[in-house]
Amino acid sequence: MTQTRNDVLPERAELLPGIWRLPLPLRDSPLGHVNTYLVRADDGYLLVDCGWDTADTLQALEGHMRALDIPLGDVRHLVVTHIHPDHYGLAGRLREITRADLSFHRLERLYIESRYGNAEELLSEMHEWLRINGTPGAELDRLNFGSMGIIERVKIAFPDRTLDGGEEITCGRFAFRVLWTPGHSTGHICLFDARNKVLLSGDHVLPHITPSVGLHVRAASNPLADYLDSLRLVGRLEAELVLPGHGEPFHGLPERTAELIAHHQGRLDEIKILLEREPARGLNGYTIASRMKWSRRRTWDDLSGFERRLAVTEALAHIELLHARGEVHKEYAEGEITYRLPLPE
Ligand SMILES: [Zn+2]
Ligand SMILES: [Zn+2]
Repeated sequence: MTQTRNDVLPERAELLPGIWRLPLPLRDSPLGHVNTYLVRADDGYLLVDCGWDTADTLQALEGHMRALDIPLGDVRHLVVTHIHPDHYGLAGRLREITRADLSFHRLERLYIESRYGNAEELLSEMHEWLRINGTPGAELDRLNFGSMGIIERVKIAFPDRTLDGGEEITCGRFAFRVLWTPGHSTGHICLFDARNKVLLSGDHVLPHITPSVGLHVRAASNPLADYLDSLRLVGRLEAELVLPGHGEPFHGLPERTAELIAHHQGRLDEIKILLEREPARGLNGYTIASRMKWSRRRTWDDLSGFERRLAVTEALAHIELLHARGEVHKEYAEGEITYRLPLPE
């Protein structure tokens, strides 16, 4: 969850012949920008990810295309790595403008209506779920409404084609294999071109930021177990250049995936130490999150409602992995879930 502020938009660049990085601004976000990638195809262009639906984001994209002397209407294909607002929000508007066909993973398709179409119902489920995970009553609304403004930056679009992973998307001199990399999002995909040794990694692997992996109220699986498996998967690829969703393109994919795996192992150890201190009573998810270290400079009191919610969902993703491995007990009593280490025999 560590994020860096980047007020200056990075520059547009042609990274390999026929593939451009087009950074788009994310107003009010500590991420600063999202990278979209434009790839020359035989019948026009493919755009991978598209920013969210605000006027300044669209204007920035139009500015990049004008500077490259490519009409926006020449974008024929749009692939979205996952449906978080900063990667998918503009897809609906862009499709109206360009008529490009839209592709993303089948599992992301499942979440569109529940996340962006019926926010009221999701909010009330989330409220109850934060409560049974120990969030104090006075804080519930603050945590729960933290992300509501962002939902307005999404114009819903359904895919023309759903992907499963394994497909090949040929595009000019590139042939991208679709890799299903669940974890940061259930249906997250990366695109890998083995011949050019280039990986478009979305939010799965980022150069400086640790991608957030959270357990959500409607999570279908054990996201951290999925994430660690997906990291091992891409860590084995022979990729020389990684093009991430945020931050600078980078080299050294195996080292970066190893760092991320080590980071999560450290988190799992941190939680076990916290639970060791409460052998009998155990702790709920909120209390564990509030005692974990989230930032070098900022304490729990400094975190916003949205950041606290992210922290709680991330802590729960780690605790649930420990639970799935049999290293932590989970108990439900009097309307609250608590976790504790197994008592010694
Ligand atoms: Zn994301
Ligand atoms: Zn992102």
